[in-house]
Amino acid sequence: MAFLPLQSKNVSDAENARCELLAESQRLFRLRPHSRGGRINHTNEMIFTNARLIFPDGIRDGFEVVVEHGKITAIRPPAPRLRQAGKRVRDNEVVDLNGNYLAPGFIDLHVHGARHRDTMEGSVEAFRAICDFHASGGTTSLLLTTATAPLDEIVKVLQAVRDSRTANTSIAGVHLEGPFISKAKAGAQRAEFIQNPSPTAVRQLLEHADVLKRVTIAPELPGALEAIHAFYVHGISVSGGHSDAWDKEAIAAFDRGMRSATHTFNCMSSARRRGVYRVAGLLEFALSEPDISCELIADSHHVSNTLMKTLYHAKGAQGICLVTDATAGAGLPEGSQFALFGKDCIVKNGVCLLADRSALAGSAACMIDLVRTMVLEVNVPLYEAIGMATENPARAIGLEPKGRLTVGADADLVVLSPQIEVVQTFAAGREVWSN
Ligand SMILES: [Zn+2]
Repeated sequence: MAFLPLQSKNVSDAENARCELLAESQRLFRLRPHSRGGRINHTNEMIFTNARLIFPDGIRDGFEVVVEHGKITAIRPPAPRLRQAGKRVRDNEVVDLNGNYLAPGFIDLHVHGARHRDTMEGSVEAFRAICDFHASGGTTSLLLTTATAPLDEIVKVLQAVRDSRTANTSIAGVHLEGPFISKAKAGAQRAEFIQNPSPTAVRQLLEHADVLKRVTIAPELPGALEAIHAFYVHGISVSGGHSDAWDKEAIAAFDRGMRSATHTFNCMSSARRRGVYRVAGLLEFALSEPDISCELIADSHHVSNTLMKTLYHAKGAQGICLVTDATAGAGLPEGSQFALFGKDCIVKNGVCLLADRSALAGSAACMIDLVRTMVLEVNVPLYEAIGMATENPARAIGLEPKGRLTVGADADLVVLSPQIEVVQTFAAGREVWSN
């Protein structure tokens, strides 16, 4: 059996992983995959062969991945055993990946839109177009992200997402970005709709706690600490961002359940003087606290390479979640104009800008672009960059059956070329995009 832990940290890690994999392969004959209800016409069994598998701790050759009814049911050495047992494996059930990489499907916690469509439209068609575009970048689960707007408009989006989720399984829920943010750090968000998190507003949102998975909030706002606690106890991931907080306010938010930072470095306070003393802001708090996971827009525009390296060395591979923060300009040709939160924007040099060029307006990226940036410009091993796009975001929002190549996980998969480009994307074992 070929077993090549090419990028594993050390021999004992690799040996542990090998034992895990063999144990998983032995479970094959015990595991009975459960059906997702029969709406999707899955092939009964698919076997992905001849791939380099990307795990959280390394890349391994010499295994195949078996998928049944939308779930991974085995990861094992190529199995002559099936044929010996008299079971026929038809060619069209075997997917030869020609030595390409196979990774878990990407999970993007921060997506506003793509191709002229925006989450705030609140329509099934818009949601579908956004998910389809991001599938081309390897994303199989995403949080549709709202903009700062009147609360009633945001609630309408939450309702629309609830109505769409059964038909569109790529939608993992909603990320609320505003209106509970700082006017001093609004970025491209519309300042006139910013408000404090009143108990009434929080109650109204918590009626949609089944779809609301993440909230970006500025900890220093009046009422923010109570709101953070309320979101936290409802299982909603709380992320500090668009914030002018001092570290003391960030620490108080952490004590109430804040465990993430939104698009780290962008639209957040950093160290500055208070009187004669230099005091940390939200940025330094996020860098220094191991239990805070940091969003990073690694699109080569929002954050410089030095800053990305700083983040990587401060947080480690497990402390970063790559996010696109993609807007309606993603997927549009150079020079295209589009609207963002009611503001005119333009796609210029591969980035989205306000039409007056005064600020960035989200990104034009998809997730594979960020993975490639981390590998090529930040010198992160590929398997760690993949972890930042899969396992880490799954952990941040409790999306447990996803984000790893492991037995029992959803068969959300992405095939990558050696040049780190997406070749094919599968959701629940079904091809949803191919190059
Ligand atoms: Zn955003």
